[in-house]
Parts: sequence; structure tokens; C-alpha cells
Amino acid sequence: AKWVYSFGDGAAEGRAGDKNLLGGKGANLAEMCSLGLPVPPGFTVTTEVCSYYYAHNQSYPPELKDQVLAALHRVGEITGRRFGDKDKLLLVSVRSGARASMPGMMDTVLNLGLNDETVEALAKDASDERFAWDSYRRFIQMYSNVVLDIDHEHFEEILEDSKARLGVELDTEIKAADWRKIVGLYKGRVEEELGSPFPQDPQEQLWGAIGAVFSSWMNQRAITYRRLHDIPESWGTAVNVQAMVFGNMGETSATGVAFTRNPSTGEKALYGEFLVNAQGEDVVAGIRTPQNITEEARIAAGSDQPSLEKVMPEAFGEFVRIAGVLEKHYRDMQDLEFTIERGKLWMLQTRSGKRTAKAALKTAVEMAGEGLITRDEAVARIDPASLDQLLHPTIDPKAERNVVAVGLPASPGAATGEIVFTSDEAEDLKKQGRKVVLVRVETSPEDIHGMHASEGILTTRGGMTSHAAVVARGMGKPCVSGAGSLRVDARAGTMMVMGQTFRKGDIITIDGSSGQVLKGAVPMLQPELSGDFAAIMEWADGIRRMKVRTNAETPADARMARSFGAEGIGLCRTEHMFFDEDRIVAMREMILSDTEDGRRKALTKLLPMQRADFGELFEIMAGLPVTIRLLDPPLHEFLPHTDEEIAEVATAMGVAPEKLRQRTEELHEFNPMLGHRGCRLAVSYPEIAEMQARAIFEAAVESAKKTGNPVVPEVMIPLVGLVKELDFVKASIDKVAKEVMAEAGTEITYLVGTMIELPRAALRAQKIAESAEFFSFGTNDLTQTTFGISRDDASSFLETYRQKGIIEQDPFVSIDVDGVGELVRIAAEKGRQTRSDIKLGICGEHGGDPASIRFCEEVGLDYVSCSPFRVPIARLAAAQAAV
Ligand code: ADP
Ligand code: MG
Ligand code: MG
Repeated sequence: AKWVYSFGDGAAEGRAGDKNLLGGKGANLAEMCSLGLPVPPGFTVTTEVCSYYYAHNQSYPPELKDQVLAALHRVGEITGRRFGDKDKLLLVSVRSGARASMPGMMDTVLNLGLNDETVEALAKDASDERFAWDSYRRFIQMYSNVVLDIDHEHFEEILEDSKARLGVELDTEIKAADWRKIVGLYKGRVEEELGSPFPQDPQEQLWGAIGAVFSSWMNQRAITYRRLHDIPESWGTAVNVQAMVFGNMGETSATGVAFTRNPSTGEKALYGEFLVNAQGEDVVAGIRTPQNITEEARIAAGSDQPSLEKVMPEAFGEFVRIAGVLEKHYRDMQDLEFTIERGKLWMLQTRSGKRTAKAALKTAVEMAGEGLITRDEAVARIDPASLDQLLHPTIDPKAERNVVAVGLPASPGAATGEIVFTSDEAEDLKKQGRKVVLVRVETSPEDIHGMHASEGILTTRGGMTSHAAVVARGMGKPCVSGAGSLRVDARAGTMMVMGQTFRKGDIITIDGSSGQVLKGAVPMLQPELSGDFAAIMEWADGIRRMKVRTNAETPADARMARSFGAEGIGLCRTEHMFFDEDRIVAMREMILSDTEDGRRKALTKLLPMQRADFGELFEIMAGLPVTIRLLDPPLHEFLPHTDEEIAEVATAMGVAPEKLRQRTEELHEFNPMLGHRGCRLAVSYPEIAEMQARAIFEAAVESAKKTGNPVVPEVMIPLVGLVKELDFVKASIDKVAKEVMAEAGTEITYLVGTMIELPRAALRAQKIAESAEFFSFGTNDLTQTTFGISRDDASSFLETYRQKGIIEQDPFVSIDVDGVGELVRIAAEKGRQTRSDIKLGICGEHGGDPASIRFCEEVGLDYVSCSPFRVPIARLAAAQAAV
């Protein structure tokens, strides 16, 4: 079998497509060679050897040794050198490289093949003693650290002592004779730590390094990284062995890294850093300050260190040319590593560059403009979830940050405001036109109004899925959660951290993208929804098949969603409209009356308010469909709690508080989520649904007159399990529609449909579709009822399930395709059998999740509906799912 793939001298046995076999680094080194670019020759030991190694008790395939020796010999022939030779010495680097770039793997070993004898050969050959001993000391340190497991600190300590003794500051100031002494000290320390001398045999060194790469595949860091990023253990890593080129051969040599475009802005300009007379990781290690590659970048950075363009113009010119070749060839922004040896440029790595969301947009749009990629490809290249970062104000990267605490980046964007400690304060100040940040230990459903009124939310307790985090993301508000170093005393109105005390009214800024909490106001950048963002969105809209609607019940949310491109409302939850101060009393009156008359009286008060709510939404959504869900939550949720609240309702109704308290107790439920809710309410109290239907149709008539552009109301009946439930409620809706049309003397186009959120409804969809003109999959409840778990209580054990590998993902975040998805599929098919043009949509949280959106496309839903800030994400994800 073939275990080793060579590259060098303008040819290679592998290519870029061989990432599975050669790893990313090896495949791209081969590709660069075939392109005729200057790459030091070498070879890749395949990932299959890694698999073999672990399947065979950490041993190698019998043919490996010969194949490695033959490949090493070829490298020698190309370079005119020999490994271990005392005249023309070949040195190599040993580099790990998995399919996906993976921190946690073994670090690279450079200058391998040096020992007490060959170091002299190197000095003679290069006519540079200092260079040879500098290389040897680097090798001893790297090899000892990554192969022999001896801590860096030992070497750093020796080096620091020596520098102090010599009275120098920089490594570059140390002379050959002193490096020779330091190497002696290094070797002494290795022997002390290891109990045996530093290995002198180049072959032993080579196999030691190869073994270390394979072993590092199973070290704890690598295992953890793989788990976090869903990388299978079976992939294995490859090992690259490559002839050394030297950036540390004096002032005409250098090493550096660069991007073909700016990775933070996306601007089309070579962007990178280098160091003269240095090797490998010196650039990132921060020992010396690296210099800019281009003059332009140097000037922009205000640096007085000369650029590569200035100090090595020829190598620079060649580098610019090669960067262009690679970007064209790979058709993407590249992240490059290079070394210059005595004026000659060598390429050591290329890969697609990581970039910010903003840079991703800019490069994709510009590359499409340059004809490098198609528009479809540009759309496919943007990670939909990353758009979230772009829709909110962010802290100006140039701003000074006075960080007082760091919590979790729970919901993106930054916000500045006065500190408030209660939701009522938040609401009061908001009414006065002030901007506030709500600071709580944690939030609960009772804080919704305060969260709405705040610019952002900060909690000291709770994780990424805490109430505050989930609700804030839904509202599109910045949130930092779990900032544990803050001490909040809401009663005293103080927040203490690091010896500072903040009081109510003090200004803070939170950065929900980094988790930082900052003192005072900080300059912000406003989201840029035109330009590249708009271009990608427009292209995505041209590709996608599914429509994207929003879940919204307030005019502010509806307007926001429109500005993000929502094509209607997929879910208007009417219950949210009854929690407002001016309505809750009438609502409670209605619930607590024990007669139909009493209820109707209260409903009469609610009708005009509800009609006004819909009227405003219909104007904003003129000409678009709006799905309104009839009252859904258990009445339980509306019940008054305190004596004060009970007294208030009692006065309004003219009954004794005692009587009301009794009624409250009657209505109490042990398991309200499975209780008196959804269409069950409309069956028990048809007058509620009638009032809502009247409000909907009257508003539709009015707003059609006003805008000349009628909406199509879609009246949605929740929690249907039996077709008879649906028929019962539908009858009264149709009756009200007729009445309103007769009164107004106009026609209204409307639909009546149902949510599919119970397994029974999914299974009986064929029958239900006889009455329902549309289905909207309520996948939050459908997930709860399919799994038999409660969303509010499941987070604790679902996390345990994830850790123990029982589930891969929280089914409330990304749809469980196999179970819940199967029910959706069944219902969609059965629904279409009865009614071929039945409208199908989804309105659960999943409607804004890219993986779930892909599933919706597969099933052929007509639209997805999601919270306003997810609308652009859904537009993009729907486009990606359609190709
Ligand atoms: P990483 O995966 O951490 O980037 P690499 O294998 O790319 O590790 O090695 C890191 C650095 O080591 C390279 O960027 C390069 O500067 C240097 N290096 C690796 N191989 C060689 C070589 N054959 N000659 C010169 N420098 C090398
Ligand atoms: Mg690298
Ligand atoms: Mg539901």
C-alpha cells in the first residue's frame, strides 16, 4: 500500500482535493508544487497511517519505513543534500496536518537533523556560525518540548539568565559563541530532566517526531477540540516532512504570514506581518514586534519599522504575484505562510483565510464582481448565523474599553444606558425617553416588559441558554449573562465589581458579542444594512424558493422585520397583547367571570383594543399575509397573584374579593402546558374566539380602506388534535366573517387553518386538511409533545444528555429531523393528499435556525417564520437550502 506522497520540484503525487488522505496542509503543499510555486520539497505521511497506528497498538505498517526513507532520499536529490550528511546537510521540518485545521495537535518541529556534529557542517556550509547555532538551540527547545515533553520554561529560564549576563535584550543580539554556550546549557538541562542525553541520531529524531504527531491525535486537548467541533476521531492526522528553508540566515532572510485580503474588513489589499532574521513562530510569539508587509499598511498603522516592500522589494514583488496566483486558483481569500532565505521566497502554507462576518460579505460580493466566483457561490459562502453580528450596533474597534467585568456573550450587539435593577424602573425611565441597561442576578418571565424597555440586559448568573439569554436573542437585544464577578444588590441599588460601586443611573455599556461589561458610554458603529449586506440578500432572494415571514405582535417588531425583509407575519401571538397594564384587568375580568354574560361584558372592553392592535399590524404589513393565532396560553397564566391584583379586578367587576379568590383557585392547574389552553379555550368559551375574529376582520376591512392594499388574514387555531375541535371553532370564525362582511359591505379574503403541534394532529393531517386551509408547524410544542419533555425544565438534563453523547443537539434549537421532523413530513404529505394547494409553514424557534430551514426546504414548506432579527439569516439559509 502507498503510505507516503511526495511533492517538490514542480510536481506532486497529491493535490488539493486529497484533504482526507493528506490533511489540509499536505494537500495544499502538493497543489502549490504542481502550480510551479516555490515550495521546499517534502512528503506527506497519510492519515491512513494514523488510523493504522491506532488500530495496531501504536505501530506502523511494515512498508512505511522504506517509503519514508525513499521519499527522504528524493528530497535530498532535489535539494542536493543528505539527511545526516556532514557536508551538504539536509534539515527538515515535521508538521502535523489534519483535514480541518486543529489547534491542540502537535506543534511543528523545525531544523530536525541537527546534532553536535551536523551543526558544524551547517555553519561551514552557510558560512554563518551564528545562524547554525541559533538553529540548533531552536531545534533542541522545540524537539524537547513537543517530543520529549520537557517544559518550555526550562529553556526560557536559561535564555533569560544568559541575556541578563550578556546585557542584551533581543535574541538577535546574541552572538555565535554565546549561542554555542546556551546550547550546552540546554543539553545539560535536557539530560537532567530526561535522565539521558538529547538524541543525536537524525533517524531517531525523525521517527520520534513522526510518532509524536500521531500520538498528539489522542491527547486531551485534541480530543476536547474534536468533541467541540464534531470532528470524528476516525479522520486521523497526516504528517508532513519538508526540507527546511531558513528565515534566520541574517538580514536578507525573513519569515511571515499574510492574507490576500484584509480578514477583518475584507478590503482587497494584501495584509500581513513579517520579521527579519527569524524563524517560524517568532512572528506570532510576540517576542519582537512584527513589521507590515506593504508600505500602504505600514503608513496606515503609523509604524516606523520598514515594510517588506521596502526592505526586500524583489521578494515582495514575487510574493504579491504568488498571492494573486493562489487567490485566483483557489477562488477564495488565502491565508499564507512564507519564508525568505537570503532573498529567495519560499511558500510554506496556504489555506482559506478565516474572516469576520463583515469581511466575508465584502470578499464574497467583490469576488463575484471580479468574476472570480458566481453569485450563487457568493451566497453559499456566507455563514447565515454570522449575520447576527451585523444587525446590531457594535463597539467601535478603535474605542478605548474600560472593562470592569466579563460574562458570556449571550446575545450579540452592544448597548449603552443607565443602570436599572428592576423591570418596572426600566419601563418608567423608558417612558421618559431615557436609555437603560437592565441589571439582574437573573431574569424570569415577569421581566419581559423590563427587557423590552431596556437597550440591553446584564445578568450575573445563568448561561447561554438562561432565560435572559434566550429572550434577549429573541428580541434582538444585546445581553451579557453570567458575569459572576459582579455583586448586584437590587435593594440597595448597587452593583459592585473590582472595588468599584455602580449605582442606579450610572452609565455602563455591555458588549453582547464579547461578553464585556464596560464603564461609561463607548463610541459605537451602527449596523450597515446597505452595500454588501444588501447585495448578498438580494442575490439570496433571487435563489430561494421559500418565503420568509416573521413572528411579531408589536408594531415595532413588525416594522423592524419589514426592514429586514420579512414577507408577512407567520405568527402573531395574541396573548402578548393582553398583558399590558390597560388590558390585564379586563382580561382577568373575562377569565374570572363565571357566566357567559360576564365574559362578554369584559370582551366588549377588549374588542376595540384588539382591533387597534391588528389595524396597526395590517397597515405595516399591507398587501402581505398575516397569520394570527387565537388565544393560546393556559388561562392560568393570566390569573391575578397578589391580594392587590385580586382587589383591583374585584372592584372592576363589582364582586367580593373572596369570591374571586375562590374562582382563581378553581382555575389553578397542575400542568398548565397540557391543560386548559389552545383551541380548548375556544371550545369552552366560544365568545373569546368570536371577539378575536371580529377584531381581525373589522381591522382588515378598515386597513384595506386606508392603505388600498388589503392583507390576507390567516386565522390560526392552536393546539388542535381532533378535527372536530377545529370544525367547532372554524364555524364561529366563518360566521363572524360573514357578519362583518355584511356590515361593511365588502369582501375579505381570509384563510382558516391550524397549528400542527400535537403528534395526533400530524398523524390525522389528512382528515384535518379537510377543514384547514393551511398548516403551521408549531415545532416548539411539537418537540415538547413528541419527546414528552418541557422546554422550560429540560435544559438541565438535555445538557447532560449532550455531554454523554445521547443527543447531539438541543432539539429545541435545531429540529430533531428523525422524530419531530418525521411527524412534520407525514403531516405535510397527508395534508397535501387532501388539499394539494394547502399552505405549509413553520413558526417555532426552528424557523430561524439554518439547519432546520434546510429541513423545511426538503419537506417543501412554503415559508418559514422567525423572530425579526433572524429574518436575514432565514433569507440566506433558505437560499442556501434551495441550491
Ligand atoms: P501551524 O499548523 O501551527 O501553522 P506549521 O506546520 O505551519 O504549523 O509550521 C509553523 C511555521 O513553521 C510555518 O509557518 C513556518 O514559518 C515554519 N516552518 C514549517 N516548515 C518549515 C520549513 N520546511 N522551512 C522553514 N520554515 C518552516
Ligand atoms: Mg502554519
Ligand atoms: Mg404552541
